[in-house]
Amino acid sequence: MEIESMVANSALIRAREGGGKGRTWKWKELLRFPPIGQCAELAMSIEREYHSLCVKQPIGKKLFQLFCQTRPDLQNSIFLLDALEDFETKSDEERKESGIRIINRFLIQESSQCVSALLSHEQRCRHSLEADPCSDVFHACRKRALHEYLSGGPFSQYQNSMYFDRFLQWKMVERQPITKHAFRQYRVLWKGGFGEVWACQVRATGMMYACKKLEKTHVKKRRGEAMALNEKELLEGLNSRFVVNLAYAYETKHALCMVLTMMSGGDLNFHIYNMGEPGLSGERVQFYAAQVCCGLMHLHNESILYRDLKPENILLDDSGHIRISDLGLAVRLKDGKLAHGRVGTLGYMAPEVIGHKLYGMSADWWGLGCLIYEMTAGKPPFRARGEHPSTSDMERRIQTDQEEYGEKFSAEGKQICSLLLNKNPKHRLGCQIQAGKDVQSHYFFQKINFRMLEAGLVKPPFRPDPRHVYCSDILDIDEFSTLRGVTLDQTDKDFYAKFNTGSVPVTWQNEIIDTGCFEELNVFGPDGSRSPDLDR
Ligand code: ADP
Ligand code: MG
Ligand code: MG
Repeated sequence: MEIESMVANSALIRAREGGGKGRTWKWKELLRFPPIGQCAELAMSIEREYHSLCVKQPIGKKLFQLFCQTRPDLQNSIFLLDALEDFETKSDEERKESGIRIINRFLIQESSQCVSALLSHEQRCRHSLEADPCSDVFHACRKRALHEYLSGGPFSQYQNSMYFDRFLQWKMVERQPITKHAFRQYRVLWKGGFGEVWACQVRATGMMYACKKLEKTHVKKRRGEAMALNEKELLEGLNSRFVVNLAYAYETKHALCMVLTMMSGGDLNFHIYNMGEPGLSGERVQFYAAQVCCGLMHLHNESILYRDLKPENILLDDSGHIRISDLGLAVRLKDGKLAHGRVGTLGYMAPEVIGHKLYGMSADWWGLGCLIYEMTAGKPPFRARGEHPSTSDMERRIQTDQEEYGEKFSAEGKQICSLLLNKNPKHRLGCQIQAGKDVQSHYFFQKINFRMLEAGLVKPPFRPDPRHVYCSDILDIDEFSTLRGVTLDQTDKDFYAKFNTGSVPVTWQNEIIDTGCFEELNVFGPDGSRSPDLDR
């Protein structure tokens, strides 16, 4: 490897290992709270919605909890919420005992910590814990009773407290305009049709991300505006551990940038083909397929059809969990409408997509079949390794050829693939009334505990080497340049303004908490009095 590449790689590895040490020395200045007087406009305009402000937004949730902890009558509700979160991290075996402890502590009159609004739930929770400890035992208790109660009086009182003032201050910091100066840039990870992907780090917090840059002139030349905006808007509304998160969207003179969860473990294409004998072990195939299945279900649940499932778009993080990325071709299907158009990557498109038909989520289940096939066989289902059939030949094969299963396939692997690769979407696995649940209950996934997987508690079968950079050498990645002869005008500027929305609240707030910045900055004055920052 050339010295230049080694230097670029080791700078990246050092930054990844550094954790919070990557903050600039003036980080506190970058995250400084504005005086509360400057938050008046925000206070007027912000939507006073309990779920968004106190459950969904991580900093909002923390401040609401801090508020409740100062109130003796609300403390137990917050302890209960904590206990319920902890309950979700318990293994199947521990759940029953843990559930009983919760009931005895919070749901019975005799307990000193009893939450009186929830007394009526005791019997029902005991029954469902008895019947199946792995079901969502406390669902009604949490959703209907606890949150309903907190969203009333307590939520109103919170909004008149200094904790809510502090929340507004954090929101002001969150809403600062974002430019390229907010980031340090490391090596390029990938280069493609519209632009490139770089490793970067937020100066204020030290958080590592991947920045997908779309070159403005290339986007314009290929009329990629709608696609870029679509990807950005879909990503900002999602919050799934199986889909990359968008943290920031901003523009520079030459590019539109999406700052995404850093996936340092490389893409599945790299792991299938560049790490020795093509293909992956059975255990890895099951694990990745299960996580992709959950990711698809999250997308479908938001009415999003993904349409671009292939190994290149499935990325590994540093611990070996995967996320779906690249929502450029995804589409929101409103009110059960269907999609049309031959959209996707040749070789992975479902027969109904190729055949000019209207289609729904079925196209993604076909994609999962292709993915399981390719991870197992070390080649895609309808093409030999290194073979480049013409478009029409490829389409004919997908529509009429029966894929072949070599000896690398187990009986259940072969069965799930052939069910997912059913040419008729009506008969395909995943396309019946139970949708993704049918896929999850297939025998192929017998060893996967989907409840634990959804909670992020299953240990990945393969952990990427933290000292390795899982992508091509920088010298093998070509230079990228601005196109000449493309001029940018007012229509372009309007589109850029729609794109350039800065921080995405939930991801940004998680960043602030996970890097320890929240802990260090969120101090109040002595004895819980208003801190100097709040009164200025
Ligand atoms: P395109 O729409 O041009 O296909 P992608 O979003 O799929 O672009 O990104 C292209 C490649 O860049 C991926 O296959 C992956 O190797 C790399 N990449 C993309 N996003 C990330 C990320 N969040 N972390 C690390 N690498 C990434
Ligand atoms: Mg891609
Ligand atoms: Mg794309």
